[in-house]
Amino acid sequence: MEPTTATRSEDLYARAKEILPGGVSRNTVLRHPHPIYVDHAEGCRVVDIEGVERIDFANNMASLIHGHAYPPVVEAVSAQMRRGSAFSLGTEVEIRFAEHMLSRCDVFEKIRFVNSGTEAVMGALKAARAFTGRPKVAKVEGAYHGLYDYAEVSQTASPDRWGPAERPNAVPVAYGTPERALADVVVLPFNDIDGSLAILEEQADELACVLLDVMPHRVGLNPAEPAYVEALRAFTAERRILLVLDEVITFRGQVGGAQKWYHIEPDLTALGKMIGGGFPVGAIAGRAEVMEVMNPLNSPLLFPHSGTFSANPVTMTAGLTAMSHFDEAAVAHVNDLTLRAKDGIEAAIAASGARACVTGGGSMLRVHIKEHPPRNYREAYLDAEERKLIRVLLAHLFDAGIIAINTCTMCMSTVMGVEEVDTLIAMLGEGLDHVAQLQR
Ligand code: PMP
Repeated sequence: MEPTTATRSEDLYARAKEILPGGVSRNTVLRHPHPIYVDHAEGCRVVDIEGVERIDFANNMASLIHGHAYPPVVEAVSAQMRRGSAFSLGTEVEIRFAEHMLSRCDVFEKIRFVNSGTEAVMGALKAARAFTGRPKVAKVEGAYHGLYDYAEVSQTASPDRWGPAERPNAVPVAYGTPERALADVVVLPFNDIDGSLAILEEQADELACVLLDVMPHRVGLNPAEPAYVEALRAFTAERRILLVLDEVITFRGQVGGAQKWYHIEPDLTALGKMIGGGFPVGAIAGRAEVMEVMNPLNSPLLFPHSGTFSANPVTMTAGLTAMSHFDEAAVAHVNDLTLRAKDGIEAAIAASGARACVTGGGSMLRVHIKEHPPRNYREAYLDAEERKLIRVLLAHLFDAGIIAINTCTMCMSTVMGVEEVDTLIAMLGEGLDHVAQLQR
């Protein structure tokens, strides 16, 4: 018999492909030539089933603020599991977690929990429609907001379809998206005040809300220019259009979210990822008057809203524990580590001579194979050459024991220290030397 050289991950993937489309349930797990399967993880280190250990700067797509198997969460969740995991009755921990979340941000007057960021954005858009009685939503070109038809429009627009820069086309993501759904999505050019306001002015009478992520990952992970955010807030307030912030990722930026970087008050905020303490979660938080559309004690009830696993006590316990430990000091720790990483990476870019740059804010950063930080989706868009070089860089990092998000984005967790950050800088430096050679 031929000796087999297949790794265990390779074998598992062969089985997975037989039963899951593409062998995965989420596309981000795919790697070339096959996904790597995890054995266990602790703190910021993940060990795969081959026994290889890596430092995790992906943190499950920026959803783990305290890394893996965080002892306070493990303990609290284990205790809750022994008491049951889901009921069609209420639990006190939902109320305690809601009180905690409201204490983090003044504009959170009421909150409702769901099970994912997709669901949170969907709920916020439906609440905005119910509140205003208007059908359309506006969003920024290229911004990722999950899978809801209306939220995903133009997330992956390509140059052959995206249309004029100051007036982007509404480009579907999924084949079969109804034209009628596309017609109800208004796509805005990020950071372009005049362009965006001109479009909004035309659509104002039909708009329920503007949906905005102030540091959209796919648009370059560059914080929105303050004047842009302020202009959108002023316009929406004047025209009684709601401003919905998507803080599914960015809430890690401050105790009260990245909205605290700007002098604005959104009407609604969609939350998710980190606030679940490692468990599936989403939440819609905002002005009491708007949240009232979900109040089932009202008649008529404007927006009936439910979910079998919404506010289950396991997620509520994990979330409350994780968020209680993500206080001012913890925020400062991860944000300081990120500043150190950004400085180090900038120096490494300069030393390597690579045409590259780094963007980010709070506890996240992204390396671009571009000379200048992108201001919008079109500037962040990767051509074939840049795509290839990003893959080279990511492969180098992975082989050097570092897990990053597949756009070459990294995020910190509270269990990291200077040592991990300096390792990241050193390994990125090596990878950038390689990139610089290929660029010559
Ligand atoms: N909004 C943003 C900004 C996100 O980054 C994501 C997930 N990457 C979502 C919404 C959707 O969240 P989920 O994957 O939990 O549905």
